[in-house]
Amino acid sequence: MPRPTDQPRTPYPPSVDRLIAEYARLPGVGRRSAERLALHTLKSTNAEALALADAIADVKKSIRHCTVCFNFAEGERCAICDDPRRDRAMVLVVEQPRDLIALEQTGMYRGIYHVLLGRISPLDSVGPEHLTIADLLARIDDPARNAGAVPVREVVLGLNPTLEGDGTALYIQSALASRGIAVSRLARGLPSGSSLEFASKAVLADAIEGRQPLR
Ligand code: ZN
Repeated sequence: MPRPTDQPRTPYPPSVDRLIAEYARLPGVGRRSAERLALHTLKSTNAEALALADAIADVKKSIRHCTVCFNFAEGERCAICDDPRRDRAMVLVVEQPRDLIALEQTGMYRGIYHVLLGRISPLDSVGPEHLTIADLLARIDDPARNAGAVPVREVVLGLNPTLEGDGTALYIQSALASRGIAVSRLARGLPSGSSLEFASKAVLADAIEGRQPLR
């Protein structure tokens, strides 16, 4: 498509500038892309543009964290915790919901999850008390707090292979040591410093299959 070069550059009306500024706040969206998105919105029909605005409003209104595992949920519990076909005695611990989504996409894992909502990071002043570690221990100590009130048999540590991920895994491992349950970690197919989120399905599937017992 040829670009019009003979038109004078005019500043956008304030409402368009505002939309560009909002788009530019999105991760990975620079000023150029923000302008393209804003112009796309201007070209789209009222119904199309409002569908986007409505979807954003709806997700903010209806999505919260699962009371069991802290995954995204529309109700009190997420669809995974509510699924009776999952093995609720096996809990895979991840940092963020996006790690869980990457693992779910392999279709290889039949247990349930626990989302920490971060990792221990002394440099950013994030300690264990800022994560959902206490909730994980409560699920193990009191089966009534786990999905389906099933006692936890095994915890699989699925933290990202970074210094902070490793430190967090060690912390959880030692908290679990006295609790008499099996602890394993995902196999080390993931390159150090990488993240689950960007790993291929095959690598994640191997990591689940080849998980290593820690005790
Ligand atoms: Zn859940």
